[in-house]
Amino acid sequence: MQNVEHIGIAVKSLDVSIPLYEALLNAPCYKTETVESEKVATAFFKTGPTKIELLESTDPNGVISKFIEQKGEGIHHIAFGVTDIEAEMKRLREAGFTLLNETPKQGADNKLVCFVHPKNTNGVLVELCMEKP
Ligand code: ZN
Repeated sequence: MQNVEHIGIAVKSLDVSIPLYEALLNAPCYKTETVESEKVATAFFKTGPTKIELLESTDPNGVISKFIEQKGEGIHHIAFGVTDIEAEMKRLREAGFTLLNETPKQGADNKLVCFVHPKNTNGVLVELCMEKP
């Protein structure tokens, strides 16, 4: 795995949190994108080589809604950049990690992504992400 590509933060409202993070980071939100398949609206900020991804649920039954119900707003996942997501998924599977999706799926920001179950990673939801070719 490579650098921490981004940190995903679950928020109730992008309308509230975008200006908050712009003030915090002193950097503009450079992109918003809705990922229908994941039922999330996202907003991205650049902080050096790492990005911050805010996630708001677009569906009351979506994973981000459920996460906020259970844990409140806050850090949702840490995403590591990878150059070959299939190879990395195979390596992790063989090492005994549970992957939450069998094949890479479409993520925000032109990425293919895969999530590793937090039960294997001390409670941290880990995302692998690869820039789409
Ligand atoms: Zn992410």
